[in-house]
Amino acid sequence: MTSIIDGNAVAADIREELADSVATLKDAGVTPRLATVLMNDKQASETYVSMKQRDCEEIGIAAEDVRIDSDAPAEELFDTVAELNAREDVHGILVQDPTPDHVPDERVLSAVDPAKDVDGFHPENVGKLVAGNARFKPCTPHGIQKLLESEGVDTEGKEVVVVGRSNIVGKPLANLLVQKGAGGNATVTVCHSRTDDLAAHTRRADVVVAAAGVTELVDGSMLSEGTVVVDVGINRVDADTEKGYELVGDVEFESAKEKASAITPVPGGVGPMTRAMLLYNTVKAAGEQTGVDVTLP
Ligand code: NAD
Repeated sequence: MTSIIDGNAVAADIREELADSVATLKDAGVTPRLATVLMNDKQASETYVSMKQRDCEEIGIAAEDVRIDSDAPAEELFDTVAELNAREDVHGILVQDPTPDHVPDERVLSAVDPAKDVDGFHPENVGKLVAGNARFKPCTPHGIQKLLESEGVDTEGKEVVVVGRSNIVGKPLANLLVQKGAGGNATVTVCHSRTDDLAAHTRRADVVVAAAGVTELVDGSMLSEGTVVVDVGINRVDADTEKGYELVGDVEFESAKEKASAITPVPGGVGPMTRAMLLYNTVKAAGEQTGVDVTLP
């Protein structure tokens, strides 16, 4: 019997525990605050930001919605981030990706104070993660670790194949999984667009994480019996629905389910976990910056 991993339920449990931690902070006179900075006109980014704002407010985190005109000079963004860095009442800062072409990505990642970098993308935080001493684990990889833990999947000694080498999912996840300790100790292979014979890798994996952004790239024929399958992909596919599309993962769910011992659905798998772990990092940041002892799930 294949277990369908319920990311919504696991994320709800995490949010509930985080709400208690927020209450602890508030009892100590601290309201955790996340500032989101949006500098583009894309509808998808607007939606992501408003979801993050709503998630924060639901558990008592103050959310500050900072908007910068996409035609404004780059310095306006950097000045804004510098002001947020300097504010004691702001504990987490997130610059929503993408920023316009005239704003250099590398500079954006380095601009946020590493202590407030709740995405975990600042070079200092990337370095700490690789060294096995993460300050903020990036939200999607951290959410995947928590999902595996909730399912009782111990990665120690296991072959994990990560499909995708992006800086936000594939690379940090691979780095987390090879670390010593709980949630790590795996033997990790990172596959990508130049990998010869992807199926040869996925077939010998105990755990496959698909994060390629390619609709239904991994199907049941590429998996061995009993594999744990984590589908990170979120792809819009035209469909006869109210919105005119549906969301499909990087895994062909029906055939993969026949082989998998456990599998995450899309939607309702990794997505809600990513959102919950942003709240986790914001609560952690607020605790560390104010010296209030908070329990984290
Ligand atoms: P990306 O485009 O930055 O990276 C994709 C990676 O996949 C690249 O490293 C590329 O080499 C690899 N790849 C592409 N085609 C491949 C192929 N045919 N075989 C093997 N590897 C291939 O993407 P990303 O930002 O890491 O996101 C990946 C997917 O996950 C997207 O669908 C994105 O929407 C989704 N995503 C979901 C969440 C979530 O919370 N569920 C979070 C982040 C990203």
